[in-house]
Amino acid sequence: MTKKNNRNIDRTLRDLSLKNEAPKSAFIALVVLYAVAYFFVVQASRSQGEITLFGSTLPQSSFTGVFSSLANICIICLVIIYRLPGFVVSLIALLIQFPMLYVNVFVRHNVNSLPGFFSNILTIVSVVIIFVNNRRIQEFQKRFRDAAITDRLTKLPNRFACSAVMEELVKHPAKFAVVSIDLNDFKSINDTMGHDTGDKVLLEVARRWKRVADSWASGTNDFIARLTGDEFLLIVRGYEDTEELRNSVNTYRSELEKKITIDDCDFYLTACYGYTEYPTDSISIDTLFVYADAALHEAKRRDKTNELLKYSPEIMNIERSLEIERKIRAALEKDDISFHLQPQYDMNHKLRGFEALARMQDPDGSYISPADFIPVAEKTGLIDRIDLRVCDKAAGFLQEALRKNDGIILSVNVSVRHLMKNSFVDEIRKVISDHQIDPAHLEIEITESVMIDSAEKALKRIDELKAMGIKVAIDDFGTGYSSLSYLSNFPSDLLKIDKSFIDNMNSNDSSRQYVAMIISIGHILNLHVISEGVETQEQLDVLQENGCDYIQGYIWGRPMHPEDAAKLL
Ligand code: C2E
Ligand code: CA
Ligand code: CA
Repeated sequence: MTKKNNRNIDRTLRDLSLKNEAPKSAFIALVVLYAVAYFFVVQASRSQGEITLFGSTLPQSSFTGVFSSLANICIICLVIIYRLPGFVVSLIALLIQFPMLYVNVFVRHNVNSLPGFFSNILTIVSVVIIFVNNRRIQEFQKRFRDAAITDRLTKLPNRFACSAVMEELVKHPAKFAVVSIDLNDFKSINDTMGHDTGDKVLLEVARRWKRVADSWASGTNDFIARLTGDEFLLIVRGYEDTEELRNSVNTYRSELEKKITIDDCDFYLTACYGYTEYPTDSISIDTLFVYADAALHEAKRRDKTNELLKYSPEIMNIERSLEIERKIRAALEKDDISFHLQPQYDMNHKLRGFEALARMQDPDGSYISPADFIPVAEKTGLIDRIDLRVCDKAAGFLQEALRKNDGIILSVNVSVRHLMKNSFVDEIRKVISDHQIDPAHLEIEITESVMIDSAEKALKRIDELKAMGIKVAIDDFGTGYSSLSYLSNFPSDLLKIDKSFIDNMNSNDSSRQYVAMIISIGHILNLHVISEGVETQEQLDVLQENGCDYIQGYIWGRPMHPEDAAKLL
């Protein structure tokens, strides 16, 4: 299997560098057609007979030209399509005729052979011109294709060649590993020694690795390519288990780690290695590239120089989180964190106000879900800055909105982490004074978990907010198992029943009873109750029956751009 696969790889690369081989059968057909046409040329030229065509009688010899043209067309097709073999066969065929025609014209003085003689010479000349010209084009094409599949600097195969090889390999069930390799601190060589030296180092690394791959010194069947800069890709086949794979990659490592001397300078290189396996991790080529890369980046992040790190789904999550973290930082830097507003209504469909929801966009304009970026922001401590940006921008909206409707309330989400920050209350105070808004129109949503995790400190903060006149809502209520005693001590104004209970309310009796109970408890404690995520009329009816005060949900309004929200006022 290994040998066979190897041939496949060779063939794939050959195919890529020399494509468009026409079928052999057409070659044979052209040669046969040529022979037949030529046979008729000879017959027609010798024949004294006549033939009747469309009512006219013609000498058979007048058909010589027709067959001779047909023979020439076959010859030219052979040279154009089949290049060298076509040229050789054509030339032989034409040269064989030449002495006969020569004898006919110059020895036997047969004038009938004169056109054939000249035609033969002219065809030989044409065939040579076509062949030489074809060859030049072909060389040019080959250079072009070689450039497309090889890396300019190191002459190793490039990413395109890797994809082609993998396309071939994934047609078979045999496993293979895709190892992503990145040299450590290569940038510093470029920066301190210049790009020329950097290039020479890369060339030396490529030369060593190619030697290992070509000589099978690693004990496995390998294909080494350079992707970009100091990134390489190794495709390893023919290993039994992870141990053998590690040994194989170790051969490359030890070659790399041997001293490299360039222009009298010694370099000691190391690299990080991450890999993924076909078919266990994925059968898609693109995914294999991504997974190998993710494993490599994780190895880099963990500073694992001497370990070959295998891809795992957790690595992908880490990668994704890191990517989101980068995006959040960039968005904060460029002030690209924006917000949407979702309307809240009382049960008579009168506008109560809006909840501000953070929004972050990719460069292509698509939104990254808060469900993806908020948890990352919480973990990395960036949430404070997001909360504050949203709060500040939404306060700007509130300032305008209050001119049109002086009864509305703006809810902003505040993460527990942010709430616990010592500067939190001052930050909110600044927002209020910057926008000169009445604090009674600002509501802060805190999740229920705050009452369980850090009740004492939270209570103090919330008292401070309340003292400023700000409203407090308990978000996602019902999911946190907070006790009634906490709730009764908590100076909040609004309970937000979590969407999950509203979702199940009409299919699940206990959810419906739970919602009814939260509404009653809220009212006993003198709190208003809002249900979020209301999507259907049935949900709305049940909430109305149970005396819910407000609703927020797709049924009456999705989160919208502030401009659209302004129209609702
Ligand atoms: P949340 O505070 O519970 O916000 C409600 C979420 O439910 C919003 O999702 C909203 O779009 C969605 N929603 C509202 N009504 C419906 C409905 O009828 N059907 C459905 N399917 N969904 C509905 P979004 O905007 O994706 O926000 C998700 C979460 O992200 C929020 O949940 C909140 O916990 C967090 N978040 C959003 N913005 C901020 C922020 O500025 N700061 C902080 N700390 N967290 C935020
Ligand atoms: Ca909320
Ligand atoms: Ca919620």
